Amino acid sequence: MSAPTGYESLGDLGVMLVDGKLLPAASRGTFTTLNPATEEVLGTAADGTPADLDAAIGTARHAFDTDVESWTTDPAFRARCLRQLRDAMQGHAEELRALTIAEVGAPVFLTSGAQLEAPVADLGFAADLAESYDGWKVDLGEASPMGMRSQRWVLREPAGVVAAITPWNFPHQITLAKLGPALAAGCTVVLKPAPDTPWCASALARIAVEETDIPPGVLNVVTSADHHLGAMLSADPRVDLVSFTGSTATGRKVMGAAAETIKRVFLELGGKSAFIVLDDADIGSAAAMAAFTACTHAGQGCAITTRLLVPRAKFDEAVEATAGTMRALGAGDPTDPGTVCGPVVSARQRDRIEGYLKLAVDEGGTFAAGGGRPAGRPKGFFIEPTLIVGLDNSARTAREEIFGPVLVAIPHDGDDDAVRIANDSPYGLSGAVHSGDRDRAWAVARKVRTGTMSVNGGVWYSGDVPFGGYKQSGIGREMGQAGFEEYLETKSIAEGL
Ligand code: NAD
Repeated sequence: MSAPTGYESLGDLGVMLVDGKLLPAASRGTFTTLNPATEEVLGTAADGTPADLDAAIGTARHAFDTDVESWTTDPAFRARCLRQLRDAMQGHAEELRALTIAEVGAPVFLTSGAQLEAPVADLGFAADLAESYDGWKVDLGEASPMGMRSQRWVLREPAGVVAAITPWNFPHQITLAKLGPALAAGCTVVLKPAPDTPWCASALARIAVEETDIPPGVLNVVTSADHHLGAMLSADPRVDLVSFTGSTATGRKVMGAAAETIKRVFLELGGKSAFIVLDDADIGSAAAMAAFTACTHAGQGCAITTRLLVPRAKFDEAVEATAGTMRALGAGDPTDPGTVCGPVVSARQRDRIEGYLKLAVDEGGTFAAGGGRPAGRPKGFFIEPTLIVGLDNSARTAREEIFGPVLVAIPHDGDDDAVRIANDSPYGLSGAVHSGDRDRAWAVARKVRTGTMSVNGGVWYSGDVPFGGYKQSGIGREMGQAGFEEYLETKSIAEGL
């Protein structure tokens, strides 16, 4: 397997962005970024320190408070900058594609969608939102509360300085789903990407500086190997809002750190979503879709359905069909257009997944497909697509997020039982239901307590569709109008008459 090239022309990616300047870390420290499919070192990233973060927060605060170049008050300017960023990223699509495959291990087919092209195009949606929003002054008319004749208005204003803290699994999608609406609303931003994918963030920083008019201080990017920088951002009193995507365990820490200064938190967290097959569904096509979904990007998607709930009478048939598709998909080279399941991002993630595979056996489960590393791939962090059977929904393997190409099949005893099992989870991010009867499918979709549901293969992922979680899957919604409004404050003004 050869490393994808083609991103070199993006320039030096060992840089951060602070106050409109591309810089190494003040300490000159660096850390390496790897290709997870080959284990080759791609190069080094700037290892930002607390001092670098302090400077980035300071400049973001200053840019917001001084309304740099009318950033917070000129929505047409912001819309123009967002379209410049979209156009520039589209101009670099092939370099960014090569980088995303090399650094994230993302299968090339996904870069035409959620891994790259879709979120870049959605910057246009963010620009449209910026233009549609001019303070949204709503006239509530006159009234005489407490005997004082008053004219009342409600205004919306940018929330302020946003800390964007992101994971590694879909770096462009998650970053742009935060930056697009935050910048559209007139906020300023400090982005702290995951240590596993610093170059994707540095490429964005470089393109923003070199090819857009985004003013200095409005967008800052601090790469670092040190997770503590995320904790500092969450606690810093100069930050108004933390927009976080990552695990529920870290989200809990973010919320705790933000509590000290009562800052707003927006959390997109983990999931253990159910793929429900009803007894009148076409088992073959439902099984194929469940297998494909669980294998996509090696299962490294928070909204991927990882519990397969099938009617008890059809359990063996469904397991055989799902296992067959998972075996056929296998785990492969992400540069191959036919690959659905590439590597997982790091040795640490592979170890974690292998820990869960061992736990599944200890809990009494068996593997209908996979169960370990694929043969013939001595290099790269690969895990075979794995289907676990023999467990019920109380097993830890069925309850905890594994974040690998691992699906747990569980029998159900009818629609109500399927809903009960689906909802028996601390998470509530997504889900799917398949049925030959649209009304039955809708009834189930309405009863599952999650932020998104797919009915008979429907795809909800799109820039205009709000995405987020119930329960411990998060607070707030990303994307769509709701995702834009997360970055606004509400102000009421009454004028005495
Ligand atoms: P993670 O929680 O380990 O890290 C996410 C980010 O938080 C990284 O940038 C990390 O450096 C930072 N961080 C670490 N400790 C911190 C702290 N104490 N305070 C503030 N920031 C801190 O997650 P990960 O392993 O990078 O990503 C995988 C997880 O992300 C999975 O649980 C997955 O479900 C979740 N995820 C959720 C969504 C969603 O939209 N709901 C999307 C993608 C991934």
